[in-house]
Amino acid sequence: MYKISLSNTEFEGKNNSYLLNDGSETILIDTGLFSPNIYSEFKQELSKHGYSLSDIDVILLTHWHADHVGLAGTIQEESGAKVYCHIDDSSLVEKKSSSLSELLNLVVIKFEEWNVPSSKLNPLLDVLKLGYELGGPPPRIIPFEHGDELEFENHIFSVLHVPGHTMGLSCFLPQESSSAFVGDAVLPVYTPNIGGADIRVLSPLSQYRDGLLRLQDQNLDIFYPGHRHEILSPNSRINEIFQHHRDRFEQIISFLTTPIDIWDLSTRIFGPLDGIHALYGPGEMAAHLEYLESMGAVDSLDGLYSLNTSSIDISSIF
Ligand SMILES: [Zn+2]
Repeated sequence: MYKISLSNTEFEGKNNSYLLNDGSETILIDTGLFSPNIYSEFKQELSKHGYSLSDIDVILLTHWHADHVGLAGTIQEESGAKVYCHIDDSSLVEKKSSSLSELLNLVVIKFEEWNVPSSKLNPLLDVLKLGYELGGPPPRIIPFEHGDELEFENHIFSVLHVPGHTMGLSCFLPQESSSAFVGDAVLPVYTPNIGGADIRVLSPLSQYRDGLLRLQDQNLDIFYPGHRHEILSPNSRINEIFQHHRDRFEQIISFLTTPIDIWDLSTRIFGPLDGIHALYGPGEMAAHLEYLESMGAVDSLDGLYSLNTSSIDISSIF
């Protein structure tokens, strides 16, 4: 297996694609952004390992974000590769006619709910439109779901759905080794912005927690993430992520002594928020508040959140 590290000028630092070849079939997991530079970088990396575009038979996509899917359509055009993606993310990857406008409309609705200043809206919509462009020409998708087995000549992958970062985010577990290709479900350094990175996800934190627990149950030895380096203690990394969210809950609770709206809370916690961060910050706050509200710890009235109880034991609810 080869890791192909690709430039990513727009989001989250360099991207990892993984190339698997045993026998006559070549499988690629995730691709970089759609841009001429990254496309030639990708081709150079392939040839370094003795491959060309036409060798790629299968592309597995972990989730719909442009930095993971951008080159899939172009590679499919060149090689005829079959491209697979979770059914909940496939319409965005395939750029079905209404998918972008539905996403942008949802941003407008959320911004109203979160009380985000109107000056933040257009710059954010521009970032999202650029992201859509960098998603490249759409591939034809073969959709899969949680629990499916994707069977190829020399590999069988079990699909493990970990929604949160996106609605369809899926990890691929090769049957022959104790590992998983996890995309942005688990990253080695930072946490994958649950609540802001895909605002379509309902109850994002509880879905994310359940997905991480499913992943932890597998007791795997190594994760191959979408960014940065391999994760050699997957279950302890997941525990760190749980702890990050518990700390965030505590921090949020400390601001809820008087009723507060989501934008106000976001800027108090993160400071000034512009561009994509005007979505990520309040999205993350909204996800935590929604979770606390579903546990009965927080009340909301007209977009203002307040504490419903004098003491909460976070470790007992998350
Ligand atoms: Zn992502």
